[in-house]
Amino acid sequence: MDLSPRARYALIIDGQQVEAASGETFTVINPATNEALATFAKGGPEDVDRAVDAARRAMEGKWGRLRPADRTRLLYRLAAAMADHAADLARLETLNVGKAISSTYAEVYSAIEELEFFAGLARAAGEAFPLAGSLQVMTQRDPVGVCALIVPWNYPIMLTGWKLAPALAAGNAVVVKPASATPITALMLAELALEVGFPPGVINVVTGPGSTVGDALVTHPGVAKISFTGETETGKNIMRKAAGDLKRVSLELGGKSPNLVFEDVDIEATAAASVWAIFYSAGQSCEARSRLFVHKSIYDRFLDAFVSATRRLVVGDPLDRNTHVGALISPQQVERVDGYVKLALEEGGRVLAGGSRPDDAALARGNFYLPTVIEGLGNHSRVCQEEIFGPVVAVQPFADEDEAVRLANDTQFGLAATVFTRDAARALRVARSIKAGTVTVNTPFTSFAGVPFGGFKASGFGRERALETLHLYTETRSVIINTGKGPHNPFGL
Ligand code: NAD
Repeated sequence: MDLSPRARYALIIDGQQVEAASGETFTVINPATNEALATFAKGGPEDVDRAVDAARRAMEGKWGRLRPADRTRLLYRLAAAMADHAADLARLETLNVGKAISSTYAEVYSAIEELEFFAGLARAAGEAFPLAGSLQVMTQRDPVGVCALIVPWNYPIMLTGWKLAPALAAGNAVVVKPASATPITALMLAELALEVGFPPGVINVVTGPGSTVGDALVTHPGVAKISFTGETETGKNIMRKAAGDLKRVSLELGGKSPNLVFEDVDIEATAAASVWAIFYSAGQSCEARSRLFVHKSIYDRFLDAFVSATRRLVVGDPLDRNTHVGALISPQQVERVDGYVKLALEEGGRVLAGGSRPDDAALARGNFYLPTVIEGLGNHSRVCQEEIFGPVVAVQPFADEDEAVRLANDTQFGLAATVFTRDAARALRVARSIKAGTVTVNTPFTSFAGVPFGGFKASGFGRERALETLHLYTETRSVIINTGKGPHNPFGL
């Protein structure tokens, strides 16, 4: 399949590329240049109706009758097709999202590993066990029904893969709603899936605004389950609307994750790891460790190392393999990040690195912002409590372990946390005390296929990436069987 950039992309419904019923289109930019990248069909409620109907028919038809082993094979084939096209997919993703090509390459592989992981689980079935006396139980899992997969702009292909894999492994058909700013790779995955043999209607993609396409999916009576990743406020809104007909909902929402550095660490190595923890993806990660807490006894030395590592980051052309930090998604996002930096100054903070757009003329057209380190703010400042979603970290000292844990938990969010220490008992103690879905020790990496990923508190609920995720895409039926010689006679009649 040819994955070169195209000027024009259509919706994918029932295996066909189709225009929006309204005939409307919208244009998407390349964040590194702010030039138009391509034009997309602007879907609406009528297109959502068509897509949900196609998904329902796929489940009632050939797809619904496939053996689990056939689903396994198709998922492996899709993973292999993605691997064959990994370079092209990464390039498309970088052109669309603006982030460094080394990152998007890794994210394509994250989606591939997800498909492979769930391919192996497609046969996961129920259990059978003796209950009491003559009673035996058999549990069976059915696909939940048509799933709406609503994806944000920061990790489009990766999160589409994370949602598609368990939904399809469980036997569902889906309607994918990519973010308006980043629709390309979801469409390409759906085309690849058709090419490797997924029946039409199993994966439909409707591009368009969240307020119309997203809303139509969330309120559509034919949608059984919503898997949403995005902002906490959007998630709350979706949950309220989904309550109308009791749709199943999984929400992966925002974060303000802490990074705790204790006094016994290797300072240089920990500084390097901590720089990745915040500045990967230009800080536009739900689990970006945007609050850095450092033990007061090493605070100055650590900060020197951290600031100097931050200044060594290459901010530049996202297509260049040496770039660490690419463009932010939009001019508005640059304004938003800059607004938070100004707010930090008003709140009494000091900018130790970054704090502005780069003055490199080659980057002037794009949405670039320098990796920014701020100190001097209290944990209750807005900059330390609100999700900035950009390359900004606030550093604070702590006096002891109790204070570190208290500060780490002093947030509405609970997605991830990182702890650096050589003291194994302390690492486990602190990990256990932090209210977050993922705690990493001596590594900034938070997410792997097979490891549950998701939030506590306002970071959402429902885990992705693991066996329990598959269960969230199924309904369980318990069949209770009396194996005695006659029926039970509870009234003794
Ligand atoms: P967003 O909430 O604005 O949009 C996410 C998706 O929802 C988009 O496809 C959007 O079009 C759609 N949408 C918007 N309004 C809708 C509505 N009323 N009904 C239905 N759908 C609607 O989020 P974003 O700005 O694209 O993404 C950034 C956010 O995502 C951040 O808060 C980030 O922390 C979060 N995020 C969380 C995780 C996680 O796993 N917890 C991962 C990545 C991103």
